[in-house]
Amino acid sequence: MTEFFADAESSFDEAKFVFYGYPYDGTACFRKGTSEAPDEIRKHSYNFETYLMELGIDLCDVSANDWGNLEITKDQGKNEAKLEELVTKIVSSNKFPIGIGGEHSLTPAAVRAVQSKYPNLAVVILDAHLDFRQEYEGNENSHATVTRRLTDIVGLDKVRPVGIRSVSQSEISEARTIGLKFIESGWTELIEYLTDIIDELDCPIYLSLDMDAIDPAFAPGVGTPEPFGMTPYEVLQTINFFSDRIVAFDCVEVSPPYDNGNTSALAARIIRHLIGAIWQSQERFK
Ligand code: MN
Ligand code: MN
Repeated sequence: MTEFFADAESSFDEAKFVFYGYPYDGTACFRKGTSEAPDEIRKHSYNFETYLMELGIDLCDVSANDWGNLEITKDQGKNEAKLEELVTKIVSSNKFPIGIGGEHSLTPAAVRAVQSKYPNLAVVILDAHLDFRQEYEGNENSHATVTRRLTDIVGLDKVRPVGIRSVSQSEISEARTIGLKFIESGWTELIEYLTDIIDELDCPIYLSLDMDAIDPAFAPGVGTPEPFGMTPYEVLQTINFFSDRIVAFDCVEVSPPYDNGNTSALAARIIRHLIGAIWQSQERFK
């Protein structure tokens, strides 16, 4: 790691928000490169003002720490064990974890850790892909099986994918048979669907942003780009909508080798907005 995420200058003990990088892309199927994303997103985080005009707050007033990158080996299980240990440490100290991937296989291990603090946890996933296969290329813990693993951890009713527009036929028919509730991309009734989630799930939320949820026009540098996606503004609205109950966040699947810089910049800016929105709407962080 060459530099901290911008304004994450507090010590671990003082910080309310803790960044960690997970530079792993071992199961990426189409094009690799997400392992470079944590450092690239950090680099782009310096582009922005500390003042967030849309929220009227200054990130200089918010204490954050950047723990750095997890050490990655070829052994995915070991990587995830280390990740789970770190995130457990962050949430058990009543801090807010911000994971920067790496690929989406980060999320189940992080969710296990966050669930140890919040047993009632639900997960909202922004993603182009349903990620609902039982296994992919022989791996049950692939970046293409994330939603499925999350339903194993927190339960079918507590996993809500948003922005979906890419599935296999067997994947979607199984999801429908089992009763997985998800929101397709392109619906104009986004707020209505998000309201349903709020009404049905009165509990803490882990928010996972797979950057390919966003249209490739805005976020071209991802592992598996998929047209007809969400706008960045819809992502901000979603964050604002849940900001009083989000207890952990990750941003995954940015692939710098395929980026002109815009995707890393967008990821960094969304993360900065999220911190501001959470800080503003949750008393415990003041
Ligand atoms: Mn995904
Ligand atoms: Mn995806």
